[in-house]
Amino acid sequence: MRIVLLGAPGAGKGTQAEALAAYWKIVHISTGDLFRYHRDHGTALGIMANEFMAQGQLVPDGVTQAMVEERIGQADAGNGFVLDGFPRTLPQGQALAAMLQARHEKLDAALYIEVPESVLMDRLVGRRICPECKANYHVAFHPPRVAGVCDQCGAVLVQRDDDLPQTVQTRLAVYKEQTAPLIAFYQGVGLLRTINGNQSPSEVTLAAVAALGGTHD
Ligand code: AMP
Repeated sequence: MRIVLLGAPGAGKGTQAEALAAYWKIVHISTGDLFRYHRDHGTALGIMANEFMAQGQLVPDGVTQAMVEERIGQADAGNGFVLDGFPRTLPQGQALAAMLQARHEKLDAALYIEVPESVLMDRLVGRRICPECKANYHVAFHPPRVAGVCDQCGAVLVQRDDDLPQTVQTRLAVYKEQTAPLIAFYQGVGLLRTINGNQSPSEVTLAAVAALGGTHD
């Protein structure tokens, strides 16, 4: 199973990617997580990428595509993957198609998680993440048992610096301009599946599995 997740920042791609990866026993590949890993480890790629990330802008296509190509070529992706946060531009969508064709593989679906714009801002600015185990929380919608502390590993939760209101606005504008055209792109090749992302995470997962042809028992 090879799936791409589409949706605005805050649509719940990360949460659903985890659930779908577990359901189909495939790897979850998040370009945002890969860039943050590089940034936190001070690699040359991470230092360069952070110049863009901190502004809410996209990292240039060439480096992003090379990073993804390397990742999907690793052994654990042989069974399939769920791509979260890639592609994010039309050239990235075209590059992904070319990469897969060269590997004699194909995409099964592009799942678009649709969420009204008015909901996205509240979701993003209230988001908190665990820097250790990457669990996601929300101060109002999904608070941890002890405020500011990860339920799973006890680490102190942090806010991503690109979840601050000013940067969120830029990210939403970048999404509309550069990423939203991918919806028509995948519709054109018959791979688009659209689900309502404005419901609880478990309801979204049920809709996602159904849209992708899985069953729940
Ligand atoms: P995310 O965690 O998916 O919201 O990604 C965080 C940041 O990483 C984005 O705001 C971009 O700066 C960068 N990024 C992630 N994925 C991509 C991509 N496919 N193309 C370019 N930049 C990306």
